[in-house]
Amino acid sequence: MHIPFNKPFIPWYSFRYLIGGALSGTIAGNGQYTKKCHAFFEKRFGFAKVLMTTSCSDALEMAAVLCRIEPGDEVIMPSFTFMSTANAFLLRGAKIVFADTLPDVPNIDPVEIERLITPKTKAIVVVHYSGLACDMDRIMDIAKRQGLLVVEDAAHAIDSYHNGKPLGSIGHLGTFSFHETKNIISGEGGLLIVNEKQFEKRAEIIWEKGTNRAAFYRGEIDKYGWVDIGSSYLPSDAVASFLYTQIIRFDKIQNRRKKVWWNYYELFQPLEQENLLKRPVVPDYATVNGNIFYIIVKSGETRDNLIEFLKKCGISALFHYLPLHSSPYFTDKHDGRVLPNTDRFSDCIVRLPFYNSLKKKQAKYIVSRIEEFFQALR
Ligand SMILES: *Cc1c(COP(=O)(O)O)cnc(C)c1O
Repeated sequence: MHIPFNKPFIPWYSFRYLIGGALSGTIAGNGQYTKKCHAFFEKRFGFAKVLMTTSCSDALEMAAVLCRIEPGDEVIMPSFTFMSTANAFLLRGAKIVFADTLPDVPNIDPVEIERLITPKTKAIVVVHYSGLACDMDRIMDIAKRQGLLVVEDAAHAIDSYHNGKPLGSIGHLGTFSFHETKNIISGEGGLLIVNEKQFEKRAEIIWEKGTNRAAFYRGEIDKYGWVDIGSSYLPSDAVASFLYTQIIRFDKIQNRRKKVWWNYYELFQPLEQENLLKRPVVPDYATVNGNIFYIIVKSGETRDNLIEFLKKCGISALFHYLPLHSSPYFTDKHDGRVLPNTDRFSDCIVRLPFYNSLKKKQAKYIVSRIEEFFQALR
C-alpha cells in the first residue's frame, strides 16, 4: 500500500467553468468567477470585504502594505510558521520579533506577545496552526490596549471558528490560502479579508497595481489612474473559475475532511492513553476544520525514526516547521532568545497523510503501523 501525504481534490469538472469562462472571451482578473467567489466568502462567513489574490503570500504582502509598515517598525509573530508570514513584513522593512508558542498548542502565546511589545511595535501577526484558533480574546485585548494592528494568517483556517466567529474575521485583516495542500484549492491562490472600513478602498487600489480601476469599473469614477503603490495581486479569472468548482462543493469537502480528522483523533486515543504520543489539543474556544492532522511524539529522534519507519511501510508523513528564528536566513537577525515550545513542536510534530479521499481503512492501516513502531521500542 502506498499512501501519499496529500492528494489534491481535482475532479474532471474542475475545468468546466474554466472552459466556459475562456469561451466567454476574457480570463483576466476581477472577472465573473472572481466576483462569484467574493460573493461566496462574504455571504458564507459574513466578511465585510474580500479580495482574491494569487497566493496567501501575496495577501500577506497586501496586509503589510495596508498596515503601512515602514523600515524599523516591529512586527510580532510566531516563529512556528511558514516563511511567507515573515517575508511579507520583511519586504516592507519591518523588524520581525518572533514569539514562542503556548506549551500545549502550537499557536502564539499571548503572554509572550505582551512581553515583546516596545514603542516600535506596529502589528501582531497570528497563525491559526492546523486550523485551530489562537487565543483571540486575549490577543485582541492586548492589541486594543496597545493600539496595535492584528493580521490573522488563516492559511490553514478556512471554516474554523473562535467562540463562534469565523477565523479571518477577528483581526483587522486576515488571509486564506488555496494552495493545493489546503482545504479548498486553486493550485496557487489566496484571499485577503478586510475587516476594517478604513482599509477597504486602499486594499482594492493596492490589488490593482496602485490604480483605482476597480472603482472605475463600478462606475464610481470617470477615469482611472495611478494613485498609490501596489502590485498585480489579483489572480486570473481562470484561477477563480477553478476555485469556484470547489466552492460549490464546500460543505461536502469540509464534511469529508472533518470526518478524516476526527477518525484519526479517535484511532489515536489508545496510544495517547499509553502515553506514547499526544493528539492535538483543541482549546475550548476553537473548532476543527480538517486542515491537517498531527501527532506529537516525545523527541526529535523518535520523530525521525517514526517518519523513516512509515516511509518503509509506504506512508508519507512529514514534520513541521523548521522554526524561522533559527533558519539560515534569520539566525543572525534573531535576538538570541530561546523559544523552547517552538523548538519542541518543531522536533516532535509528525503530520500524517491527509486528504478528502483518505479511507477509514487507510487511516486504520497508518495507525496500526504506528502502534507497531511503538511496540518495537518497548
Ligand atoms: C500555506 C501557508 C502560507 C502561504 O500560502 P500560499 O498560498 O502558498 O502563499 C502562509 N502561511 C501559512 C501558515 C501557510 O501554511
